[in-house]
Amino acid sequence: MSQSPLHQQTLSQLASGLHKKSFSSVELTSHFLDRIKQYDNQLNSYITVCDKTALAQAKAADERLAQGNAGPLTGIPIGQKDIFCTQGIKTSCGSKMLDNFIAPYSATLIEKCDTAGMVMLGKLNMDEFAMGSSTENSFYGPSKNPWDENTVPGGSSGGSAAAVAGGLCPIATGTDTGGSIRQPASFCGITGLKPTYGRISRYGMIAFASSFDQAGPMTRTAEDAALFLNAVAGFDPKDSTSCEEPVPDYTQTLNDSIEGLTLGLPKEYFTDDLDSSIATTLNDAIEALKKLGAKVKEVSLPHTDYAVPTYYILALAECSSNLSRYDGVRFGYRCENPKNLTDLYERSRGEGFADEVKRRIMLGTYTLSAGYYDAYYLKAQKVRRLIAQDFHKAFADVDMLVCPTSPTTAFGLGEKTSDPISMYLSDIYTIAVNLAGLPGMSIPAGFVNEKPIGLQLIGQHFQESKLLNVGHQFQTVTDWHSNMPANYR
Ligand code: GLN
Repeated sequence: MSQSPLHQQTLSQLASGLHKKSFSSVELTSHFLDRIKQYDNQLNSYITVCDKTALAQAKAADERLAQGNAGPLTGIPIGQKDIFCTQGIKTSCGSKMLDNFIAPYSATLIEKCDTAGMVMLGKLNMDEFAMGSSTENSFYGPSKNPWDENTVPGGSSGGSAAAVAGGLCPIATGTDTGGSIRQPASFCGITGLKPTYGRISRYGMIAFASSFDQAGPMTRTAEDAALFLNAVAGFDPKDSTSCEEPVPDYTQTLNDSIEGLTLGLPKEYFTDDLDSSIATTLNDAIEALKKLGAKVKEVSLPHTDYAVPTYYILALAECSSNLSRYDGVRFGYRCENPKNLTDLYERSRGEGFADEVKRRIMLGTYTLSAGYYDAYYLKAQKVRRLIAQDFHKAFADVDMLVCPTSPTTAFGLGEKTSDPISMYLSDIYTIAVNLAGLPGMSIPAGFVNEKPIGLQLIGQHFQESKLLNVGHQFQTVTDWHSNMPANYR
């Protein structure tokens, strides 16, 4: 029935085409590999393209499909953020430090994709160690936003967002420590879900800030995100922070009515910081949800102003500890001709890391040092608790929160690189969610000056089903999610 080109189809359309044998996984995979060849010079969304292994996986998937033992994702191509360890394949984390690193094992998420029969097209570009909001901190150069190649795709999962938006993969993974799935999804006009902290295993996902990091899908639709979450969510004995919470079938509740659901609008998220044309467009999106029967109520998250500073103390403290393993001794970059051990450490780290990562390691080390720990780190932990409590109080009155994903649309390449604070502020609406460990999702909600913008839904712990349900209902009455940038249709 659907005659649209393969790169415009959703996962459920592709899956039905594969099962009906309208096309094979080898054909589907070749289609995306051809598009990567044709368009990725412009977008720079892939760090590594795995054509040979992808075609071999596609062939195996076709056999499974022929034998009738295929699952819903068997034969579907995927792009993986280059933060997930992939056995035998370079895993760079966007850094010179790991440019020579061939992972000896695969992340649990990668193994689950393999078990589902998915086909890995390649590894996607990202800010170095996931630190950034624009993908301009990548050792491999910035990715471009397919809606306007002079603008950034957002970050740190900018390669993932650009690849999905430009039709260079039908789904990609991202990771979100402070907004890195939702903000690029908003900038590129796609759907991005950051699940509850602990919902998906972090084993083999290179650590930035371990008490925040969470993996999730970047897709065209909420339905696609549900299909993927079904395959990868759940407890993993190899990750002690993954939760034993049962995994529901996230596709089962997509069509539930949202009649009577109460949506909270946090008043601190609709202030002058928010571009006024974005506010108008988001209001229209909220009206669409009201037409579906949702009720709307203003709520307050009084500690909102402290979210960004609290995050930049805690996340940096954690990163300074996590990144101490890159010492030039065991793996990764090692400087030439070290004079002695100290020289080896200093030059390997000095040459292997770029500026933003160095800035964060230094600040994090400072806040954890003996004289400053109480004043900064411990204080920030207490504020983190207050921020989490704001959400718990709000959820006493409402089922879910609705707010902007980002205060602006995609900004210009180079526009914020010399001003780290203004870069940090592009996450003002996403960061508190990570401090509280909650699930958050950005869905395409319209355009301002021909650039996409996202609406963010924030749920209670482990209520991904509700977010996906509201997202899906919204996508049955709007078609922002099916728009593709003109040069990539
Ligand atoms: N932009 C934020 C940062 O630079 C968040 C990054 C992320 O979520 N990985 O830390």
